[in-house]
Amino acid sequence: MDNKIDIKSLNLEELTGFIVKNGEKAFRAKQVYQWLHVKQVDTFDEMTNLSKAFREKLEQLCYITDLHQEAVQISKIDGTRKYLFLLEDGNVIESVLMRYKHGNSVCISSQVGCRMGCRFCASTLDGLVRGLKPSEMLDQIYKIGKDIGERISNVVVMGTGEPMDNFDNLLKFIELLTDENGLNISQRNLTVSTCGIVPRMRELADRQLAITLALSLHASNQQKRLELMPVANKYDIHEVIDACRYYFEKTGRRVTFEYSLVGGVNDTDEDARELSRLIHGMNCHVNLIPVNPIKERNYVQSNAAVIAAFKNKLEKNGINVTIRREMGRDIDGACGQLRKRYITSKEG
Ligand code: SAH
Repeated sequence: MDNKIDIKSLNLEELTGFIVKNGEKAFRAKQVYQWLHVKQVDTFDEMTNLSKAFREKLEQLCYITDLHQEAVQISKIDGTRKYLFLLEDGNVIESVLMRYKHGNSVCISSQVGCRMGCRFCASTLDGLVRGLKPSEMLDQIYKIGKDIGERISNVVVMGTGEPMDNFDNLLKFIELLTDENGLNISQRNLTVSTCGIVPRMRELADRQLAITLALSLHASNQQKRLELMPVANKYDIHEVIDACRYYFEKTGRRVTFEYSLVGGVNDTDEDARELSRLIHGMNCHVNLIPVNPIKERNYVQSNAAVIAAFKNKLEKNGINVTIRREMGRDIDGACGQLRKRYITSKEG
């Protein structure tokens, strides 16, 4: 987008500064902000309470991020929708809408691709292309809300990418998403999931937001975690758990541990025992996820009896635990697979 300003990534203060610098009254900023984040228009022409001259000026200096819906798959079982969006530079990303009794939840991507290299994950197979801008994270939610004509109440940053590897843009996204002048989603209804980048987790804790932190743990000890997650080379499992404790101390928010059960790898009785010891005494919640096998790797799901036994063991040790309900089974494929298929088909 040449040198134009990404106007949807500006907060109200920045937008006000920009608008005043360009010779308009400060109150115009609030109007523009509303057009962008409440009414969610995609062109300056639609901002009908601004003068034509001012709209033309904005058009010259700025652009409005406008994701294009390239494809959508709708589950016949539970109404889950998986979206493929095309970005201005030709890259594609995935987002998912999940419909629950308590409201609509959107899972967004934070990067195009990922460089974390988790062994079971499809999103990382081709590496990282780039981080998403705040406006590109927001627009996934805006476009899905428009598509279904309903309010989105919950957002999880659990799609493709490592949010802590795109930290400044993530913070800006959170600010815009939860701004009372914008979509005004409560911080409590936002979850950010990380593979465990310790310094960023601590930095996020220091901001004392009311968002939920989810840690992708997936193993009960350092050695096993290393086999599944290269990031463990950089941050030892105990350092990561300490950062979670710190997060709770600073924010009072219960941390979620995600644990994808991989048949014969991390699902034994001993794993459950070790995991219980590792997180003993923490105010936390464990989410067990049957691993979603990808064709590039040989990992298989634990069987139902093993999953139930694992859950029981944790519960006996006093740990809050749920098994994640698989949504959109019929459309799914693991995270990142829709995008991967799309890219492969374009190349082929
Ligand atoms: N990078 C962040 C967020 C994106 S991944 C993170 O690591 O948390 C979202 C979650 O899906 C993570 O817990 C990740 O480990 C998990 N995941 C990725 N691929 C999976 C698969 N094939 N089966 C089960 N869980 C998977």
